[in-house]
Amino acid sequence: MNLQDYQGVFVFVQQVDHKITGVSYELLGKGKELAADLGTEVTAVLLGYQVEDLCPKLARYGADKIILVDNEALEPYTTEPYAHAMYNVIEKYKPAVVLYGATAIGRDLAPRVSARVHTGLTADCTKLEIDPDTKNLKMTRPAFGGNIMATILCPEHRPQMATVRPGVMQKIKPIDGAEASVEKYDLAFEKNNKYVEVLNVVKKVSDKIDIQDAKILVSGGRGMGCPENFKLLRDLADVLGGEVSASRACVDAGWAEKDVQVGQTGKTVRPNLYIACGISGAIQHLAGMEDSDVIVAINKDENAPIFEVADYGIVGDVTKILPIFTEKLKEELALRNA
Ligand SMILES: Cc1cc2nc3c(=O)[nH]c(=O)nc-3n(C[C@H](O)[C@H](O)[C@H](O)COP(=O)(O)OP(=O)(O)OC[C@H]3O[C@@H](n4cnc5c(N)ncnc54)[C@H](O)[C@@H]3O)c2cc1C
Repeated sequence: MNLQDYQGVFVFVQQVDHKITGVSYELLGKGKELAADLGTEVTAVLLGYQVEDLCPKLARYGADKIILVDNEALEPYTTEPYAHAMYNVIEKYKPAVVLYGATAIGRDLAPRVSARVHTGLTADCTKLEIDPDTKNLKMTRPAFGGNIMATILCPEHRPQMATVRPGVMQKIKPIDGAEASVEKYDLAFEKNNKYVEVLNVVKKVSDKIDIQDAKILVSGGRGMGCPENFKLLRDLADVLGGEVSASRACVDAGWAEKDVQVGQTGKTVRPNLYIACGISGAIQHLAGMEDSDVIVAINKDENAPIFEVADYGIVGDVTKILPIFTEKLKEELALRNA
């Protein structure tokens, strides 16, 4: 394999029902940085059926080029036609790097493709960077249940492939009027290449907001004392227009649902405001929230590590402070809106 033949950073664009999944924008943002370090461009690979109208969005979020494979076989997502399409795109365009979101679809697709092109794949990465000397991609991911961070290289095979955890990378501010060249790649699909037939798609209806989309998070830890005290968090979140999240200790104790867990084995969040209530600030928790714009910590232990990352700290009993905090904010907001 001649490594020099492989150039460019490619991002697999996940779309479901003609809607681009958020992580794809995040990957374009990261892809742009990596491409700059490699002196190359970032290309979005858009697969689907009648999805051409999504191209302008990809350009606004940083795609320099778009490769579009538009075919009936690609609606809805199934493993075989998508793996076939990605394999052919890679064989034809020879990218140096291919990124996928570590979603259910990305995690299903990427290993199929990597086995087919005989290259390396790192799953669920939380950090990606280019080695300045070798220009190899350094792919870092939590391993052994999050107990070590492993940095993995794929020096002798191309493309270097990674699935990337949603919420960790930053999308760029959309550029109005940005354009990307669109190359349509017409691929042949065999009629019987669908080993999987989708009979029905069942959508779970949920009125909950994903904590990764919340601008304000009021987060509870073991220091809340009992599940009933989570009401105090909800009250504050309601006044601020935010959502409630939790540490793993609370999820393990059954005080909160797994889908609101913040941290290395939960979700990575980057809200404008993160209020940590009775959370010690273990490294595995910090990994999921330390990039929040403003962090407020309430903890009775002044030596709690959470204060090291907090912009504002209150030392005291959270169950006493929260009701006062919520009441004061309510008054303040009422005054402002009067
Ligand atoms: C492989 C691995 C992965 C992990 N992944 C995650 C993860 O994704 N997310 C996560 O959160 N954790 C994770 N953990 C667990 C992590 O190490 C901590 O155990 C956990 O974050 C602790 O949660 P906590 O801060 O709520 O509880 P504690 O560490 O018990 O802290 C409670 C805090 O509340 C304070 N407190 C107690 N009472 C009050 C009161 N009345 N008023 C004010 N403050 C009070 C205490 O001073 C203390 O600081 C992981 C651990 C491992 C080993």
